[in-house]
Amino acid sequence: MSAPPVQPSHTLLQPLPLDRARLAEGFWGRLQSLGRSAVIPHAVEWMERLGWVANFDRAASGARYEHRGREFADSEIYKIIEAVSWEHARSGPGALDPIADDLIRRVAAAQEPDGYLHTLFGRPWQAPRYSDFTWGHELYCFGHLIQAAVAHHRAYGTRSLLDVAVRLADHVCVMFGPGGLNRVCGHAEIEVALVELFRTTGERRYLDQAALFVERRGTGTLPLIEFGRAFAQDDLPVRKADVLRGHAVRALYLAAGATDVAIETGDRELLDALRTQWDNTVERRTYLTGGMGSHHMDEAFGEDHVLPPDRSYCETCAGVASVMFSWRLLLATGDPRHADLIERTLYNIVATSPGDDGRSFFYANTLHQRHPGGEVPLNDDGVCIRGGSGLRQAWYEVSCCPPNLARTLAGLGGYLATTTSDGIQIHQYASATIDAVVAGGPFELEVTTDYPHSGVVTVTVRQAPARPASISLRDPEWSTGTRLTLNSVPVEPAAGATMVLTRTWQAGDRLELTLDLRPRVVRPDHRVDAVRGCVAVQRGPEVLAMESVDLPPSWALEDAALLPDTVTAENGSVVATARHHRSGEDRTVPLIPYRSWARRGPSAMRVWIPEASGRS
Ligand SMILES: [Zn+2]
Repeated sequence: MSAPPVQPSHTLLQPLPLDRARLAEGFWGRLQSLGRSAVIPHAVEWMERLGWVANFDRAASGARYEHRGREFADSEIYKIIEAVSWEHARSGPGALDPIADDLIRRVAAAQEPDGYLHTLFGRPWQAPRYSDFTWGHELYCFGHLIQAAVAHHRAYGTRSLLDVAVRLADHVCVMFGPGGLNRVCGHAEIEVALVELFRTTGERRYLDQAALFVERRGTGTLPLIEFGRAFAQDDLPVRKADVLRGHAVRALYLAAGATDVAIETGDRELLDALRTQWDNTVERRTYLTGGMGSHHMDEAFGEDHVLPPDRSYCETCAGVASVMFSWRLLLATGDPRHADLIERTLYNIVATSPGDDGRSFFYANTLHQRHPGGEVPLNDDGVCIRGGSGLRQAWYEVSCCPPNLARTLAGLGGYLATTTSDGIQIHQYASATIDAVVAGGPFELEVTTDYPHSGVVTVTVRQAPARPASISLRDPEWSTGTRLTLNSVPVEPAAGATMVLTRTWQAGDRLELTLDLRPRVVRPDHRVDAVRGCVAVQRGPEVLAMESVDLPPSWALEDAALLPDTVTAENGSVVATARHHRSGEDRTVPLIPYRSWARRGPSAMRVWIPEASGRS
């Protein structure tokens, strides 16, 4: 049994290792398979082709070389090692293992004698080490290496990369510890990694260093740049802030790492500050899709209620990072709202990014594409040089998102369920097998569902402890009238966002949960000026969209309005009457899951649709 991707030493809820929460065939199972069969090999092919992996070979050779890719190219290789490791953890030896072996050998060979490891800095012909904290991404890359090493160690049980990470982390502690450089990285990431390294090695100095980086941020140690100090969260100490701000991925990685620090150090004040930041960010700075970030120029959060759909950025990595932050808060607090947001983000950001072939990706995830996507600027290597685009692209100059997706999909099973000493809590609904030891015995559950296509989720007890144990099921915030039966008899668990059943279970006991998947029309917060007069439609966890390819050819998307009263489910899909602004003509059109947009060729699309006046 391996350890879970995130392994706090003490939280209210305990995560499950990936071989104890295994996805079966179904929505998430298929997406996970796509990660293994396509996303990982695709990413490796591109990084080899572009010379990003060869940077390590050249660094190891000692000869002068021209570095390929951006400052953070090293980190993409590390994310793929992490992805392969979680694949191994969930399903054992496989065809991907040699990828990790090869990459680790080449990464390790490039490590300097004092532990430092970055292919862009420090050689005589390169910029000196630690000469650019704002954009250099050195500590950021170290963080991804450490995360990869922890994953590799937990999955394979060997130390080939962990030893590299320990030498690197020791170097960091010397350079940036008490009495060392009073600096932080312009891009948070090493915090979350150092805490996980502490959890793996038991070495307290890594936790102390992570805590020091968290405390140091917000004290103005980074140079002032055009985007302001908030861009890298250096405007306010983490424990003083009440909302996330600045670059979205930076803010969310920092929040995840700070949550880890708060958990391990028992810092209640810090944890409470992070919970407040989560609350305010979700209430005021998060799109309906769970997407975060409304600025393109600095990839940043806007101010409260600045959520323009046609200027939404919603970077895929911000979705990944949001899931990381929410997962840590869920473990610490048990608050099901964190699982609600994870679900919203998984269905509407994480599942939206990859194309059906697993070899193309959205970087930004707009809620409104005004014109069908077309030509995008490609560089000489055929790589997209811009994040925003109306079509999924094979690779990006800044290609943080595809490898981030790869590691997230590989670890997806870890988000399904948790345990306490006396029960299993199911947070996400997907066909899966969950087995754990609780209440003094093995407790194995089989979940079967074709959710989100239907709202029926069956949980069958395969093996049960002799003592009473609990099964908890999340009642999603959007589901009204959720029904639950036990062995076909309706049960009424205590009201609340989590349904808990405690009893002495028998093998064969069967729970059937029915969630309300009737489409729901939602209206925006009155303070979000950009979508005033519009409505959106959701079905279960899915945000729906109107796509131009479903409209009559003579209609432009911008001329279509929606009659909200007409929204209805029909044979498993959702349809509504759209009214043409110019002609007054009405048509019944499908509303598709947002994640499905731009899969039938270039299209215009919108989530927030103007509300037509009058009834059909
Ligand atoms: Zn990204």
